[in-house]
Formats: sequence, structure tokens, C-alpha cells
Amino acid sequence: MAEASSRPAWAEVDLGAVRGNVDALVDLCAPAAVCAVVKADGYGHGAVAVARAALEAGATWLAVAVVEEGVALRRAGITSPILVLAEPPPAAAAEAVAQQLTPTLYTSRGVEAAQAAAAVAGDGRRVPVHVKVDTGMHRVGASPADAVALAEAAHASPALELEGLWTHLAVADEPGRDDYTLGQLACFEQVRAELARRGIRPAVVHAANSAGAIAHPAARYDLVRCGIAVYGYAPSAELAGRLPLRPALSLRCRATFVRELDAGERLSYGLRYELSRRSVVATAPLGYADGVPRRLSAVGGEVLVGGRRCPLAGTVTMDQVMVDCGSEAEVAVGDEVVLLGRQGGECVSADEWAERLGTISYEVLCGIGPRVPRVYTG
Ligand SMILES: *Cc1c(COP(=O)(O)O)cnc(C)c1O
Repeated sequence: MAEASSRPAWAEVDLGAVRGNVDALVDLCAPAAVCAVVKADGYGHGAVAVARAALEAGATWLAVAVVEEGVALRRAGITSPILVLAEPPPAAAAEAVAQQLTPTLYTSRGVEAAQAAAAVAGDGRRVPVHVKVDTGMHRVGASPADAVALAEAAHASPALELEGLWTHLAVADEPGRDDYTLGQLACFEQVRAELARRGIRPAVVHAANSAGAIAHPAARYDLVRCGIAVYGYAPSAELAGRLPLRPALSLRCRATFVRELDAGERLSYGLRYELSRRSVVATAPLGYADGVPRRLSAVGGEVLVGGRRCPLAGTVTMDQVMVDCGSEAEVAVGDEVVLLGRQGGECVSADEWAERLGTISYEVLCGIGPRVPRVYTG
């Protein structure tokens, strides 16, 4: 196992798992195309490596949150279409056009900025854009009425090509609330129909995130925008097991310090963890600055040592955690400690952390910090 810095701690990303997950999505959603969402540095996995693996496995689009993320992919030599999921601020429109990113638009200001940037680029090419409709998530997007007008304006512009029309689903991961999802899709259909009446039929219509792609075949349209499933996690417990997904990321390190401590000794800041018996305590070099939430030790967080689950012993510190390996444990400096992932027959998943912490796997994965080197396998 490779380690890439002076500190024996790394996030291992299995690109074979990424390819397998994308393959499963391609199979499930065909003829819809798969867009791999690689925003936030590929949910913490490394955007460039994940993008390449996803494209190899049959994804044909990528999506990012902001223009800078798209530029980084272009600089790495990636040539596939890249959708920017939010409307670029006018000051970023020129860069988006120059880098051949596909902007999402939902204000007249955004349409004008894209048009101006495309006209200035002046290579005669119409710049493809996607208009986003807010059908009920109420984060960003044009109202249905405004979306029709914006789409018409983009369609009419000699500098732009209205390539896409899309929306985003708020509760596709909750089967108990499918009525709301169906209402969003009905609203989206009305906008499409309104545009069709004006002779405008965008080539790439899309609505589904991973949950929509898995649970709502009607939401697949021409393209599914999948993030969490690409990384090997179901969007929610209710949708677990619907696809053969394999988590791609594990968070590993090596014990840097090991000793036995007596029963009654208390550990770490606040001295909140007391040994109930004489025990082998290992120190592992990852902490909350690396994305191991400080609260994890207070909610029963466990790590793997020698293929066994062991509790975090005391408060997670900025750079290190302590692990109670038990009274008879044979643990040495240099032994592998797994915070997320498999070791022997045991596994700690991002879903396990998320459940303990009252969050979702997404936040756990995005939280793995930039100080942790990513090591690619598969
Ligand atoms: C992040 C995001 C996605 C991907 O969502 P997953 O649940 O990770 O599949 C899709 N569409 C939009 C607009 C997003 O912001």
C-alpha cells in the first residue's frame, strides 16, 4: 500500500470501484446518458481521476458546481462536455465559454452575459447552454414561466444554442414522498410542452440525480446526473441495494505510537474516555483537520485494527486520534488503522459515520481534507 507523504495517512480511491459503479448506472439508465458529477473535488475522491475513470466506464458528460472546477478538468486534458450546475456570475462567463464549459442559465442577466461572452469569443460557434427550471426545490432556477422566456431568448440568440433544459429533484431519495417528485416532474413537463408549442425542443433534457436515476425511471430523460452512486453509496437507506454499488474511498493510516495504559487512566482533551481495564492504546495520525469529525468519538465511533473494531479512545484531536485496542491486543507502530473502508472481514462505511453523526455520506466524503494524500488503485 502506497503512502505519499511524511505522515502515514492516506485516502485510497479504488478507480475500479468507480468504473464498476458507472457501469451499473449506464446499464440501469440506458438509453439515457450518464453524467458523472465531480463537484467538490469529486466528493473528496479527486475530480480528475474520478472523471477519467467515469468516462472510461461509459459516462459521456461531467458536471461541476463552479467554473473553476471545470477549468481544472480542462487543464488536465479532459475534453468531454462539462456542465456547470450553477449559473456562472457574469464575470466568469468569458472563462466558461473560453474553456468550452456548458453553463446553466436561469436569469436574464446570466443569458445576456453568456451571449456577450459567446459573441466576443466570435469563432462563429454557437455556445451550448442549459436552462434550469425550478420545479419545487427552490434553491436556484427560473420559475416555470420565466424559464420559458429565458429558453426562448437563448434559442433566439445567434451566439447561443439552447442545448439543454433541466430541473432538480428535492426528495427523490425518499420513496414516501414520491407525490412531490411526481409533481415536480409534471411541472417540468409543462415547461417542455410550452417550449414544444413554440417549436423549441432542447436535445438534452435532464432531471435525475442518483436517487432520481435509481428510483424514478420517468426522470431519466436524456441524461442522469449522478454523484453519490458513482462513489459507491446509495443516496439514502431506502434506496440501498437497488444497484450493485461499491464504495470507492477508504481512509487509512498507520499507528505512530503504541503503549499499554492502566485501568482508570483517562485519555485525550477533556479526559472523557476512561480505560475500564489495562489496555493497549494506539495513536493514529488523522484528526478533525483531515475530516474525522470531532464528535465521532462521542457517538461511538470505531476504527479497524488487525481486522477488529476498536473504539476511538477520547476526543478526536486536530491531527490525531487514540484507539483502545483492548487488553490482549498485539499492535505495533506501523500497523494499519482503517477509519473508513475494509480490513479483514470488517468494514466501516461513510454511511455508518453519517448515521452516528446525524448527517449523510455525502458530507462525510466531502469532508476528507486536502491534507490527506489520495492514492489511486484499480
Ligand atoms: C450534486 C448534484 C447532483 C448529484 O447528486 P447525487 O445525489 O450525488 O447524485 C445532481 N444534480 C445537481 C444539480 C447537483 O447539485
